[in-house]
Amino acid sequence: MNLFFLKAKLVFITFSVCISFDVDCKWTKHSFEVMGTQSNIEFEVLDAKMAPNTLQRVIDEMHRIDALMSPFKSTSELSKINRLASTHPVHISNELYDLLVKSAEFSKLTQGAFDISFSSVGYLYNYRTSVRPTEKQIENLKRNINYRSVQLNKDNQTVKFVQPLVKIDLGGIAKGYAVDQCIQILKDSGVVNAYVSAGGDSRIIGKKDDRLWYIGIKHPRDKNKLLVNLPLEEVSISTSGDYERFFVKDGVRYHHIIDPKTGDSARELQSVTILAPSSTTADALSTSVFVLGLDKGLKLINGLSDISAILVDSQGRLHYSDDIARLK
Ligand code: AMP
Ligand code: MG
Repeated sequence: MNLFFLKAKLVFITFSVCISFDVDCKWTKHSFEVMGTQSNIEFEVLDAKMAPNTLQRVIDEMHRIDALMSPFKSTSELSKINRLASTHPVHISNELYDLLVKSAEFSKLTQGAFDISFSSVGYLYNYRTSVRPTEKQIENLKRNINYRSVQLNKDNQTVKFVQPLVKIDLGGIAKGYAVDQCIQILKDSGVVNAYVSAGGDSRIIGKKDDRLWYIGIKHPRDKNKLLVNLPLEEVSISTSGDYERFFVKDGVRYHHIIDPKTGDSARELQSVTILAPSSTTADALSTSVFVLGLDKGLKLINGLSDISAILVDSQGRLHYSDDIARLK
């Protein structure tokens, strides 16, 4: 991986976000809301006249994927699956089918830590209104969390749930997938230097004015700070954190990353950052490692080529995959 961790650059710096739309003669920058989060797009064009059209195609792609995969939009294809797949096999688009196949591959790779059927219990949490399922609801519904219950039929391109109360949600992988799709649109338009993010999932290609891109990782307990600011090149970087969507009740933090074994939030780590060649992979693995915890998570990453990780444990201590630790 072309990954430049310049020694001594793992510095604490103040966090600032650029929310702007400006097209100068070279760089186009735009931020907008999509998939319940903020997306930032930045790219360089040789011909400034091309910029608005290229930008619009990227924005449209983000919204198209949101409309297809949102669990909150009743018209999405994902919602249709959740409504019907318990009763009969549902024929779905190539695109969604392929992402369900990929999700199942990550489930196998992570021994079930990544499991889109977490939503069978997960849908009962509302982090904005501090609502969580009762112990009894978790106990009754937990058996529906099992990626093997989501049966995919390649010949007919269908999905069927083999348990009656299964629900799926692609929140742990869809943003990364959307970032990859947008990078591909930019590449197809001749763009060489670009940054695309959706929430905690980012991907960069090329350079920023002949220099490396700097991508910050948020401090999990101080939103005004960055934990580290990394000089990077040609890589995807995804962070999963317990501070993104959460509430605290009786001193316990309930957040959006669910351990499929318990139906409760995973609590061994505060944040996980994954560096990987594709954003889909980085996104799925950041969620997975968050569930796996420190030891199992690092073991998984150290066994994969081209993947690096930076973890923050429950005490706020930093841990690195072996390849990064060797650079320090
Ligand atoms: P991320 O910020 O990429 O870690 O994604 C968090 C989102 O992933 C949550 O909001 C859920 O939609 C989804 N999610 C939560 N737990 C899991 C899990 N165990 N496996 C797969 N997706 C999950
Ligand atoms: Mg993720």
